[in-house]
Order: sequence, then C-alpha cells, then structure tokens
Amino acid sequence: MNFDPFVIPFCAGAVVLFAILLYKYTGWINKFSIEEKKKILKGIFSRKIIIATKEVLMESLLHRKIFRVNPLLGYMHSSLAFGWFLLISVGIIEAKIHSNWAFNMPYEPIFYKFFNHSMVGKEHSAFFNFIMDFILLVILSGVALAFVKRFYSKLFGVKKSTKLKPFDKFALISLWCIFPLRFLAESFTSGVYHNGGFLTGSAGHFFNLFLPVSVLIYPAWWAYSTALCIFFISLPFSRYMHILTEVILIYFRNFGLKTEKEFTSFSEIEVNSCPRCGICIDKCQLASVNEINNVQSVYFLKSIRENEIENNVAANCLLCGRCQEYCPVGISTNNIRIAKRNEISSIENSFEYLNGHEIKNCDVIYFAGCMTHLTPAIKKSMTAILDRAKINYWFMDVAETTCCGRPLMLAGNIDGAKKLMEYNKKQIKESKAKLLVTSCPICYKMFKEDYSLDIEVLHHTQYLLQLVNHRILKLHKIDRQLAYHDPCELGRGSGIYSEPRALLNKISTLKESADNKEDSLCCGGSIGNTQIKFQQRDAIMLETLKGLTINNPDTVITSCPLCKKSFSRKSIIRVADISEVVAEAMDS
Ligand code: SF4
Ligand code: SF4
Ligand code: SF4
Repeated sequence: MNFDPFVIPFCAGAVVLFAILLYKYTGWINKFSIEEKKKILKGIFSRKIIIATKEVLMESLLHRKIFRVNPLLGYMHSSLAFGWFLLISVGIIEAKIHSNWAFNMPYEPIFYKFFNHSMVGKEHSAFFNFIMDFILLVILSGVALAFVKRFYSKLFGVKKSTKLKPFDKFALISLWCIFPLRFLAESFTSGVYHNGGFLTGSAGHFFNLFLPVSVLIYPAWWAYSTALCIFFISLPFSRYMHILTEVILIYFRNFGLKTEKEFTSFSEIEVNSCPRCGICIDKCQLASVNEINNVQSVYFLKSIRENEIENNVAANCLLCGRCQEYCPVGISTNNIRIAKRNEISSIENSFEYLNGHEIKNCDVIYFAGCMTHLTPAIKKSMTAILDRAKINYWFMDVAETTCCGRPLMLAGNIDGAKKLMEYNKKQIKESKAKLLVTSCPICYKMFKEDYSLDIEVLHHTQYLLQLVNHRILKLHKIDRQLAYHDPCELGRGSGIYSEPRALLNKISTLKESADNKEDSLCCGGSIGNTQIKFQQRDAIMLETLKGLTINNPDTVITSCPLCKKSFSRKSIIRVADISEVVAEAMDS
C-alpha cells in the first residue's frame, strides 16, 4: 500500500464530504412521502434509470443546454465537470492496469505520479501520459475561463449572479487552485523523474531550468491535497453543492417526482441543484426592462437556501416562466415560488358570496373567467361562434363571475383557491357537460391541471380549431397581416403553440414576430406579480409590443384576455383576441 502523510488532508476532506452528503441526502429522502418513495423504487427497476443516466451525462457532465445558450459558457462548465470526471475515471483505470487490477487505496489514482516515479515497463504508459495530460489541459482551460468570467461575465453572455458568501469563496478559490496545483506537482515530479506527458513532461523540463524542482515536489503535492480538502469541506455549504445534488435531482425527476403546490423535500433538492449560472437573470424582463436585478430565480433560490427569504423577492416575479424555460437544470422555479408564497401568505378570505346559481344541463361549458369579463369583445365573439355552431352550451359564469382560483393560487393562497375550486367543480359535475372551454389561459391551466375533472378541458384556441377542422364552423379568408403573441400561460405554461397558428393560417397571413413561441415575452399584465408599479408593467408591455410589430402587421392577435387588455392600452395598431378574428371570418 502506497502512503505518504500529504494524502491525509485529501482523505480527511473526502470523509467529511461524504459524511455531510450522506446526512443531507438521507434527511431529504426520509422526508419523502410513501408515494414518492414508491416512485423512486419503481424508477430504479425501470427504463427510466437509463433515460436519467443519459440525461446526467448530457446535462450534468456535458452541459448541453448551457452550450445552446452560450458555447463559451457551456465549454467552461463541461471542461470542469466532464474533465474532472474523466481525470478520475481514466486515473482509476491507469492505476488498476498498472497494478494488475490489485486493490488500490482510493487516493492512489489522484496522486498517481507521486507514487509511481518510474513509468518504465508500465503498460501503455505513453498513452496514459498523453491522455491524462490532455484532460488536465482541458480542465486548466476551463479554470482560466472561470477566472475570466468572474471579472468579465458579459463575455459569457450572462450577468454576474449573487454575491459570494464565505464558504462560496473558500470553495471557489480552492477549485481555482486544485488543477494548477496538480499541474505543478506533476510537472515538478516529472522534471526530476521524467514520468510526464506532453504537458507535465515539457513543463517539468522547463521548470528544471530555473527552479529547485526536487525541493518543490513535496510542498506542491501537499498544497494540491490541501486544496482538495478545502474544496471538499466547503462544497456542501456552498453553491458547489449543485455538482452532486443535480445528479440525484435528474434521477428523481425522471422517476416522476416534482414540486407542485407545496414546498417539499424534492423542492429542497431542486433549490440545492442551482449552480447560480445566472442564465435566468438574462431571460427576465424585470431585469432587461426595469433593471430589477435582485429577484430572479437565482436570487430567490439562494434566499431559500440561506433561510433569508423575503416577501418582496418571492412576490416580485411575473411567473411568466421565461427563465424556467432556459434553466439548464430544469428547476421548476414557478412552482417553488408559488409554494413559498403559500408559506409566507397571510391573506384572509371571505366566501359568503358563493351562494350557488342555476345550473344548466349541457354538452359544453363555456367559462369566460374574470379577465374575459373585463374584455367583453372576447365573450361576445365566443358566444356568437357557439351560437352559430349550434352548440348546446352553458355560459357558466355569465352573471356571477366566480373566479377559477388561479389568481389566489399564484398569490400563494392555496386554501382560498381550493374553496373556489370545490364550488366550481360541483357545478361542472352537475351540468353533466362533456367538455369545458375557457377563454383565459390562466383558467385553462387551472381547470386542466388542478381540478382533476373527469371531462375534457380545452382553451378556446384548441376548441375553435376543432370546430373548423370538423367543418362545424366554416371560415373565409380575410385580408389581414397578423402577428401572434404567445401568452405565457398558454405557450410556456401549457405548451399550446400550434393550434392558434393553425387557426390563424386558415383566416389570414400570419407574420411571425421576434421572441415567439417558447421565447415569448410577457405582456406585463401578469397577475403573478404584486410588487411592480404600473409604469414598470407598461415598460414591459411596450418592449413586447415592439417585438410583435417588427414585421409591420396590421393586427396583433393574442389568446389571453389579460394580454389583450395590456397591449390595447398603448398599441397604435389593432389588438384582438383570436376569437374575435374567428368571429369576423365566420361564414354567414
Ligand atoms: S435557476 Fe436555473 S438558470 Fe437560474 S441560476 Fe439556477 S440553474 Fe441557472
Ligand atoms: S418567471 Fe419571468 S418574471 Fe419571474 S424571474 Fe423568471 S423570467 Fe423573471
Ligand atoms: S397576462 Fe398573458 S402574457 Fe401576461 S403573464 Fe398572464 S398569460 Fe402571460
């Protein structure tokens, strides 16, 4: 067994790290519900484990999603993560082959060159020297980029994210030191024993010209081992906790675990998986338009981790989901926000107005929603279309506009939302309808995802397209140049992109605008934010409108009453809901 006292810091750090991780992970897993534990067990013995492993390779090691956002940032992350992984894996293989697969102490591959001064007669030693040096060179380039990013983050297409706490600083500085120190230790060793590859061998020869390398060998290995020790001990208390937590997040998510309306142990894992890459800041209109730079997901998740959550950080978010779409770790930031708002919220409710009203037996329920009642042209168009198509429908909230509950849900008042849901659910059941149609994407998402109805729920973009495709509703072409805005809750929130486009293409010429589909911008009217001022909402709306009118359309179409209301306030061209142009294009 090879041993030298300088391996002690490394070993001590590794033991402390594993003990802390074991404590944290078992704590999280113990808090899972029985249901969640069953899902994990089932997942382990299914194909999901293969899919998850592939995702770990593509995202945690190769950082494919970050590459897509910014190749330089992607290279920086993957050279460190994948490079380190390779350095350990190839190092283990080298040590195993050279010892004829005998037992090695876990630290031996890490300090291989120290314990194996002479490479003479070692199998494939030239190959291993080359490959290990090449991996080290790639990692060193990643370290150099990480250093540059700290001072010139714009080069990497991101803004600086979050201030460093002491443990972050220890971890960061030790990480920056680990690989240059390994390079020096191996180079000094090869300067004396000539056991290096193209990088460490040449550097050793060079250092030998002017440094007392035989004296420096030992301190260099000590320094390398100490840097590893500091990094290991700081890791669980720093942002670098994400390195290992992201891996278990990917497995658990593939097994079916997710954050819904409550902050759970799984949410805790999501929070700890954020590497603070800062991509969410750059995608957020609160930052780009209003220069609000301290509320985005990265800050919000950090505040949860550090137990310093403030109401204005939790509440100052449009819940537009743009950052979530781009988050390379796939953290469900919107749901975590709603769950946290629920913990902080202290709203009193009164539901005395829910007295019940007449229920009509029907095939289809039309639910306009509060926002549609504030934009009457939409409900007029929808009722005209339903009448023309001779649908046996019931306009459920025609007189008493009971809310679907989503605004309360977004504000974190989940009990209040549940009360409204019970009331609406009872009526929907009694009507014996087979289908529920909503005009507002906010209501659609709520009925579809939270009500567990046993009837189909469609947004009117989907329903109108079905009516046209089944020739129940006949349309003619109208001479218009249309631009379509993807509302956040309908597009990113519910994945409905193709139906409104298919419908509009049947009526007129659709000109795609800037920032469409998954990249769509918010109208600023979001009911998810209770903190921003009216002028700030307007600034967001104007930026979005600018992108929508870039190709000079004559009408901006939306399929969300709140978006229509927001854009109509300032647009110099017509803004209409999709149902309005469908009503105009109906054959008489
Ligand atoms: S929330 Fe996602 S995008 Fe934002 S810093 Fe964390 S990982 Fe990056
Ligand atoms: S959900 Fe939208 S508003 Fe909220 S932080 Fe993300 S991008 Fe910004
Ligand atoms: S009103 Fe429309 S665009 Fe604005 S936040 Fe809501 S869904 Fe998104």
